[in-house]
Amino acid sequence: MDDLKYGTRNKRGDWAPNGRIEIAPFWSWPPKIPSVLKWVPEYIWPWNAFHMATALLYWFYVVPDVEVMKTLSWGWALWLYAVNAAAIFAFYGSIELFFYVKRKQGNRFKYNVKFPSEQPSDVFWFKSQNIDNFLRSFFLSIPLWTLVEVLFLWVFANGLVPWLSWSNHPYYLAFLVAVAPMIHEVHFFIIHRLIHWGPFYRWIHSVHHNSVNPSPWSSLSMHPVEGFLYHAVALWHLVIPSNPIVALFQLHIAGFGAVNGHIGFDKLEITEETPLDTHAYAHYLHHKYFEVNYGGDGLIPLDRWFGTWHDGTKEGDVQMQTRFAKKRERMNAKTVRANN
Ligand SMILES: [Zn+2]
Ligand SMILES: [Zn+2]
Repeated sequence: MDDLKYGTRNKRGDWAPNGRIEIAPFWSWPPKIPSVLKWVPEYIWPWNAFHMATALLYWFYVVPDVEVMKTLSWGWALWLYAVNAAAIFAFYGSIELFFYVKRKQGNRFKYNVKFPSEQPSDVFWFKSQNIDNFLRSFFLSIPLWTLVEVLFLWVFANGLVPWLSWSNHPYYLAFLVAVAPMIHEVHFFIIHRLIHWGPFYRWIHSVHHNSVNPSPWSSLSMHPVEGFLYHAVALWHLVIPSNPIVALFQLHIAGFGAVNGHIGFDKLEITEETPLDTHAYAHYLHHKYFEVNYGGDGLIPLDRWFGTWHDGTKEGDVQMQTRFAKKRERMNAKTVRANN
């Protein structure tokens, strides 16, 4: 495909999409019904449908019997870890393999022209972004994902919180499924904003930001505190009346869905005519500029409400630079005051 029909490439070779990142259309007033109707299938397909499909596969083929889950044990916890790790290895790994190792798409639709393997850096374990990101994902973040999973399954199995059935509460549970991606966005925005606060940033979140040019393995490359808080979004289903399948869906939006912001390509060319939108640009800009786009790509436009939204346009860039300049002024004024 010709990526220059969809965007532009600068002198360095970095590609950027034309147009702006649009927030979900139901936020516009007066409501634009046709755009909402067009948006609904994009909301479901393919990403959220995929997370629901994996949640159902888990529930019917992976998650042990309720009787087993009443007692905490290493047996079923390790089994869940093994499946989570294998699933991520297959899912993230195949994107890495085709687009980063074999580079079947070259750098078409790639935001940053360079590939992480071409840029060794001291900030990474073994000076390699790939090895560092891989080890952190598999030996820190996926175990913490599994910990959250074991925790809520055990609580549900023991009847410590309400377990609503699909036959008695079909509409309420369908509604919960529909808003789960929004719960994710709010939860992520709050924890993410928190760990961007100076001391927490240096201690916790800088680990994730070492990958300025992320690839799929960067998605779950986190400090353990972040790894736990990030997946803990599923624990909201112990607070609101819910069902373990919805909690699993919520967990998969986090675990599997983390890849979306880190694919590094705007579109994946599935075939010559079928591009798959990755929705990666908003979070790519976060990795590039740090203090913009703390949330996702505008499902709940928290960044817009808090003044940290970068929509990928020139105007978005100017707004960001103005905000950064004001911040620098404030910091300088503070230093002058402190020195007097
Ligand atoms: Zn990230
Ligand atoms: Zn961040």
